[in-house]
Amino acid sequence: MAEAAEEARHVWSHKARIALFLSAMRHFREALLREGICVEYLALDRNGGARSLAEALASSVGRLGPDRLIVVEPGEWRVEQALREAAVRLGRPLEIRPDRHFYCSREEFAAYARERRALRLEFFYRAQRHKHGVLMDGRDPEGGRWNFDAANRESFGKDGPGAVPRPRRFAPDGLTAAVLRLVEERFPEHPGDLDTFAWPVTREQALEALDDFIMYRLPWFGAHQDAMWTGEPFLSHSLLSAALNLKLLDPREVVSAAELAYRDGYAPLAAVEGFIRQILGWREYVRGIYWTFMPEYLHRNHLDARQPLPGFYWTGDTRMACLREVVRQTLRYGYAHHIQRLMVTGLFALLLGVRPAEVHQWYLAVYVDAVEWVELPNTLGMAQYADGGVMASKPYAASGKYIQRMSNYCAGCAFRPEKAAGADACPFTTLYWDFLMRHEARLRANPRMRPQVNNLARLDGALRQAIQEQAARIREECRSAPAAPVLD
Ligand SMILES: Cc1cc2nc3c(=O)[nH]c(=O)nc-3n(C[C@H](O)[C@H](O)[C@H](O)COP(=O)(O)OP(=O)(O)OC[C@H]3O[C@@H](n4cnc5c(N)ncnc54)[C@H](O)[C@@H]3O)c2cc1C
Ligand code: SF4
Repeated sequence: MAEAAEEARHVWSHKARIALFLSAMRHFREALLREGICVEYLALDRNGGARSLAEALASSVGRLGPDRLIVVEPGEWRVEQALREAAVRLGRPLEIRPDRHFYCSREEFAAYARERRALRLEFFYRAQRHKHGVLMDGRDPEGGRWNFDAANRESFGKDGPGAVPRPRRFAPDGLTAAVLRLVEERFPEHPGDLDTFAWPVTREQALEALDDFIMYRLPWFGAHQDAMWTGEPFLSHSLLSAALNLKLLDPREVVSAAELAYRDGYAPLAAVEGFIRQILGWREYVRGIYWTFMPEYLHRNHLDARQPLPGFYWTGDTRMACLREVVRQTLRYGYAHHIQRLMVTGLFALLLGVRPAEVHQWYLAVYVDAVEWVELPNTLGMAQYADGGVMASKPYAASGKYIQRMSNYCAGCAFRPEKAAGADACPFTTLYWDFLMRHEARLRANPRMRPQVNNLARLDGALRQAIQEQAARIREECRSAPAAPVLD
């Protein structure tokens, strides 16, 4: 095992993301040592650590002289390539073993993809439910329906979410505290706070976090899954993504625990189906997309977006209340829930026309759960439509009125979500109409976008021109906001 500085610097990683990976690795090393397993571990604060994983491997091979190398499939194409190249350089055969922490292997998904013209989540998810016997009633879906999405899109009323049980958080132990100090020393210029760090870093803690979610928040997960509220970063979400991605939890045990809660009458079917769909459906599906389409997927830019990422993505300093809230929360915790990622930060970048590669680097940097196999398809495919429809059947384009419906952000904002032009027009709404105009021909060809594009007919010539001019000004202002750091 090696702590390589390159892995923290490859993107401008949030301090909590670096700390979480290092702390989980160090705790895992301790657990292996307790089992009597010999571990070769290169720490960042011993002998300067290693610059890259390939360098660490070369140094260990030199010292230990193994006949062959065996690794589990990495979570990133770049790392797999680096290991393959290092093995050739070192003259050792490399065996890459399947990662058993997934339901669907890379080969199984590739075979599934070869047989289909379009890869839609819904059909993949149903096939997975069948195959693994999850939430099934014989050959039929439990409750007679595969999908309870319609019941899972509610906003909170005027009074907000009420008293949502707080998620279980874990105070840093000695090992984690040492890692937090190391991160502050080695990566002081990186974004994000460390004083809120309370993520599970061991298998035992991850299991406690799972129990806590199933017991106290799963029953409320479904209905308000897409809703957002100022000052409430976590709501009824599970906060289990990082523990799953670090393999502290197996997706099968998470899915089984949720299904059991339904069968035992603790949680309603709509909530449990909504949750299981995220893990057995989306999580497996995006991994399949990643490995099937890499490495060319990384360079896709279907909408020819060329704007730089606005500097306020790294600070939260903007008058737009929704973006301010989500970016500041992200910097504080390294966490935002799915709709905050998709329909606030993701939506703004889509409408503004930010280069997908820059959007990707931001998402890979700022979330504690970010690993490329899951982050890239969500960002490039789902949020930016840069893959031209491999993942999503249409762009997730919406105006500020969507954010107004799903949150209370607009109530505390200088702008008005219903206005597309004028000094107090919501930038999301201006850019939404401008997006439809800029891409009208392309979007009209997509039957699912046609109703939205047809609404352009409601705008008279003067309003169209005012929107286009205002959108150009917004793009100019965003361009002159402080630049993002230059990455290695
Ligand atoms: C632009 C963008 C970037 C994202 N980047 C990441 C990332 O780097 N790492 C990551 O794990 N997730 C990512 N997601 C997916 C999702 O937003 C997070 O998994 C989720 O918000 C994590 O919070 P949670 O554990 O509280 O999730 P919950 O809302 O409680 O959902 C339960 C679990 O389902 C899984 N899940 C839910 N949605 C997705 C999805 N779309 N794709 C894959 N798994 C999903 C996660 O493992 C999650 O823990 C991204 C989504 C978007 C739109
Ligand atoms: S008015 Fe527009 S910018 Fe302001 S919070 Fe609402 S959606 Fe965001």
